[in-house]
Amino acid sequence: MTTKEEILSLFTQLSDTEKGAVLEELNSKAISETILIEDAPILSCPHCESRLFVKNGKRGDLQKYKCKTCCRVFTSRTGTPFHKLQKLDKFEAYKTLMLDGYLPIKKIAEKVGISVQTAFDWRHKILASLGNNNGKFEGITEIDDVWFLYSQKGRKGLDYSRKRGGSNRSGDNDYQAKLLITADRNKTCDFSLVRIGRLKKSDIQRKISGKFSENSTLVSDKHRSIASFAKAEGIEHISFKASEHTAGGEYHVQTVNNMASRLKGIINHSLRGVSTKYLQSYANWFHLKTKRPKKAMLDEMLLQNKEAWNIHKNKEGIYKRFIKTFSRRTYRCPVKKHFIGEFTPEMIAKLKFI
Ligand SMILES: [Zn+2]
Repeated sequence: MTTKEEILSLFTQLSDTEKGAVLEELNSKAISETILIEDAPILSCPHCESRLFVKNGKRGDLQKYKCKTCCRVFTSRTGTPFHKLQKLDKFEAYKTLMLDGYLPIKKIAEKVGISVQTAFDWRHKILASLGNNNGKFEGITEIDDVWFLYSQKGRKGLDYSRKRGGSNRSGDNDYQAKLLITADRNKTCDFSLVRIGRLKKSDIQRKISGKFSENSTLVSDKHRSIASFAKAEGIEHISFKASEHTAGGEYHVQTVNNMASRLKGIINHSLRGVSTKYLQSYANWFHLKTKRPKKAMLDEMLLQNKEAWNIHKNKEGIYKRFIKTFSRRTYRCPVKKHFIGEFTPEMIAKLKFI
């Protein structure tokens, strides 16, 4: 009998109360074990990427390091969502709930026993860590844009409807935020919020140029920007009239359409709409969940991304730049928001995750 079988057979001999107590004990053990992985080996300074650093005392149980190049002190959590994080045990429960489904902030706060503000903060810290694309597109690759009405949900001090962002016009107009979804049949996908307004060739280039293999065939409806993108990229392109939904046989965009309608359902119904400011973050969440991740995979992503804290703290600056560069909307911020600063194009180029 293996150890596991032995434990299981012993477990069945316990009373219900004892079973509960054992489960609780195991659970807390599992939690302390996942916390341990935060002390994974550090390869370089999160501030300047120098490999020259030395141990520099401890903060609680956590080893501190000092960089010999930039002289700054850091730990394995610096730059990650775990940085300065209190209530680690509740954070574990929170992550599990995020992997389970799409609960509104208030519900998740109630379940974990934290304030709504903390729940909001944690959600966006986690979402700021999630990368987008993974690898190159192979073979038949579908592409389409999904529309979300520009929304300023949660923004304070505006003198018109925040949720609708001031418009309820339908059709392709300057109030439609465009999220580009690209996916091949091997589950490599990309979700990118590109612009508010009509999709341009440059939007597609900015996000997915150079990410196609030689054998790629792009399939889409007859959108002029997509056709000229494919031409510029030198990829075979098969298109069809939007009303026909398919170019016959395996040339259709059903994979992307299914994802788009699921994402729309989650954003507009389960979450009761989200602000355009956070649309990319929610798309990243959805993308993560299409991979059916285990907690360990999420932990690894959270600990590896040393840009997350920076992105989280600069969310308002990133949004400001997006509105000014990729929309005809006016950036409004009636209530002063604090953020570190507007990102320069050079800084944006360095960031892999926005
Ligand atoms: Zn350094």
